[in-house]
Formats: sequence, C-alpha cells, structure tokens
Amino acid sequence: MNDEEFEAAGQQMLKYVIDYHKNIRERRVMPDVKPGFMRKLLPDHAPHTPEKWDLLFKDIERVIMPGVTHWRHPHFYAYYALSTSYPAILADILSDTITCSGFSWASCPSCTELEVIVMDWLVKVMDLPEAFLSTSPGHGGGVIQGTASEATLVAVLSARTKFINRAKEKSPSMENGVALTKLIAYTSRQSHSSVERAYKIALVKYRILDTDEKQALRGDTLKKAIDEDRAKGLTPFFVCATLGTTSSCAFDNCKEIGIVCEQEDIWMHIDAAYAGSSFICPEYRPLLDGVEHADSFNFNPHKWLQVAFDCSAMWMKNSNDIIQSFKLEPVYLKHDNEDIMPDYRHWQIPFGRRFRSLKLWFVLRLFGIKKLQNIIRQDIKLAHKFEEYIRNDPRFEIFGEVIMALVCFRLKGSNEINEKLIKSINEDGRIHMVPSRVDDTFFLRLSICTTRTQNHDIDFAWKVVSEVADNVLKTTN
Ligand code: PLP
Repeated sequence: MNDEEFEAAGQQMLKYVIDYHKNIRERRVMPDVKPGFMRKLLPDHAPHTPEKWDLLFKDIERVIMPGVTHWRHPHFYAYYALSTSYPAILADILSDTITCSGFSWASCPSCTELEVIVMDWLVKVMDLPEAFLSTSPGHGGGVIQGTASEATLVAVLSARTKFINRAKEKSPSMENGVALTKLIAYTSRQSHSSVERAYKIALVKYRILDTDEKQALRGDTLKKAIDEDRAKGLTPFFVCATLGTTSSCAFDNCKEIGIVCEQEDIWMHIDAAYAGSSFICPEYRPLLDGVEHADSFNFNPHKWLQVAFDCSAMWMKNSNDIIQSFKLEPVYLKHDNEDIMPDYRHWQIPFGRRFRSLKLWFVLRLFGIKKLQNIIRQDIKLAHKFEEYIRNDPRFEIFGEVIMALVCFRLKGSNEINEKLIKSINEDGRIHMVPSRVDDTFFLRLSICTTRTQNHDIDFAWKVVSEVADNVLKTTN
C-alpha cells in the first residue's frame, strides 16, 4: 500500500468507523452465529500475492461483522462499560503511526514523559493522595498497565519481593522459596477472579474472606484472619480491596481495611477497575476514602473514561518496591538519564509498551473533566431510571444498592426462574445482559455501557425485560 492508496483507504475506513457508530442501532446487539462460522467464509491459506484493498474492505461486513458482539450498541448492558471515543481512536492512530516501544526513557522520551504527566494530572483530578505524584519525595508515581489484572499481579509480585527481602534481612541464609511459604495474602469473596489468579501465579498462600450484608470486606474480618494466620507462624503481606465489585458493584470498606493494613504493616492494593472513573466527580470521591492508606491503586480509564481498551491506570506510593522486583539492566538498555525519568519496563510484566498515554491525553483535552463528569452522572441517572421501573413492579426486586451505573435485579422467587429469564432475554436478542450470583442469590445485571444509551433506550430495555418476564412467568406457572 503506497501513500496515495493509504490515503484513499484511510478515508474509506474513517467513514466506515463513523457510519458504524451512527447506524449501530440497525445491527443486532448479539451475533447470531455458531462456533466455527468463520472457517466457511475464509480460505485455508494466507495469500501469496497482495490482495486488493476493496476486497478486504468488503470482507469487514461479510466475514467480521456477523460474529461481532456490538459492545458500542446502546442496547448492550452486559459486564461493565468498555469505552472508546473519537479522540481515543485518533490517538491510537497516532500511537500506531509512531510505533515506539517505550520500555525506557531513551527508547522514546515523549512516550515516557507524557505518561508521567497525564498520570499526575489524574492524581489531581481524582484528588488521590499526593504520595502518588511523580514529584512526591517518597518515589511515588503512576504507570499505565494494559489491564487491572496486570496491575494486581504487579502489586502482588512487588509486595512479595519486598516481604521476602525483609525475611532475608532477618535470616540471611533463608532461601527465597522458604520465605515464600510463609507469605499469605487476602481478598474478599466478591473480588474479581483476577485477584485469586494473581495469588496463584505468585505462588503465595491466600485466604478469601467473607463480606458483610452489603458485600463489603470489613476491617474486623481482615484483622481476625491476620491474627489467626500470625498465630500459625505465617506472614500476612498483601490485601486487595475492591471498590465496585464485578458482581454487584459493592464497595469494600477501605478506611477500616487501610487502618488494619497500616497497623499490621501489610501492602494494601485497591482495585477500582470499573468504579474508579466515577471518582473524578466530587460527589463520588468519598467512596474512595481510605485510599490514603493504600500502597497501590488502580482503575481502568478504558472502562468508563472514554479511553479505548487498553488503558489501566496504576499508582504506587513507592515505585522502588516495583523497580527492585523487576529491574534487570543489560548493556544495550543503559542510558544516561536513568535516575531522572522512569524506565517503565521495570514497572510492568511485559518488556515493550505502547504509547498509551496519547489516548488519555487526547481524551482529557478534547472532552475536558466537566464533560467526562457529565457522562458518568448521566449514566448513573439512567441506571436509577431503570431501578425505578424495577421498584415499581411488584414482580421484581432490586439486589443490593444502585450506586454506580449498574442495576442488579431479579424476579421475586427462585433462582431457576431468574436463570430462565436471563436466557430468554438473551435469546430474544433485542438487548444483551449477563447474570451474576452472590452467595445463593442469582440475579440479572443491567449495566449502562455506552454514551449513546439514552432515556428512551432504558424505556425500551424495561419493555423487553417486562415482556419477556410475562412469558417466563406464564410458561412457568
Ligand atoms: N477488577 C474488577 C473489579 C473488574 O470489574 C474487572 C473487570 O470487569 C477486572 C478487575 C478485570 O479487568 P481487566 O480486564 O482490566 O483485567
């Protein structure tokens, strides 16, 4: 593809992107395909000679779109929001154009420096502790990870190294593997599965703790577990608290947990993957109280802050903890400015890294904080509108509390009838949701996922839920 061909194809692609968004309501939110559908549409071998762009362009609709779940569709209410926006798409074009791998400051100074600056901007926007600023005296700082799962793993591995080193300071002859067997981590029953996975990857012992009636982990539960484990000769070293759990958007009590962690000298990580974006609104910021005790904090701008996947913002109070865990310095990576700016390869699992801060920068500048706040407020308002429909219908009940843009609800009655309801809604195909379960209670989740979802879409979603419930109840009774 030469420059002229790229320009023509690029214009065609941009028009396609705009039309995709503008006309998305004409598409079915969930694909209607069976596993293996694509094999019938594509040849067995890659072409030996260049194909024409026009042929490839036509295959977007013929081959790809039939199997696409349209997360951008206003009737997509599954999981949690995954955002994108025109500014984010433009930034990704630029990132793919520059195509640097920002593993060190020297490998692309702008890639590192913009990341440091926008992460500091976010600290101020969200009123995060000053200790997370890159300018803090305690070596604080932010880094963009790919996902919240990576952020948790990085935090666990950093804490693991810190505590193993500490044990070896006391007993210099102790082997790493022996020190490792003493470490124990905690999280709640409601945290995302990636937390337990991080503990498994790190080969540390862990305990999954019970929550209170609001699905929140409380300080006394944590303290009791710590006391029990210390009595067994173990070393409690890490807690992952969640703000906005995946199942029902519950909030752990980070104030209580933080105080326990500080008293017990344990690393506290906060996973606010979804709900974190809401903390740019001053009225939701109190939900983050306790963050001042955290050693690390993470949320996903790619979920609710109009930044395209992948962009997971993570801060640490002392970046030396992470650097000491991961730092290796072959000659070919050495440069003269290592002590002045971060070499971000030490702050993450992979070596190479994309220029992700561009999309955060584009979004923060072209939306402005006020508009981003309004999007969050509007989504939460829509959730409350749907909540009202549920509360006004005696067949239904709300599960938990509607705090963010997620409504958990169920038909009063058995789990089986609710399993039938969600299956029938998704088979109906006009809207898409996923269910969840907390303890023995199975429920449906309606999550506002796109900025195109409006009041009339909520009316429509309720119409679908209500109609399908009519049928389910009729055929069940
Ligand atoms: N943590 C929480 C609370 C989540 O809700 C999710 C996903 O929804 C994750 C972690 C995983 O996020 P990621 O895909 O960025 O790893």
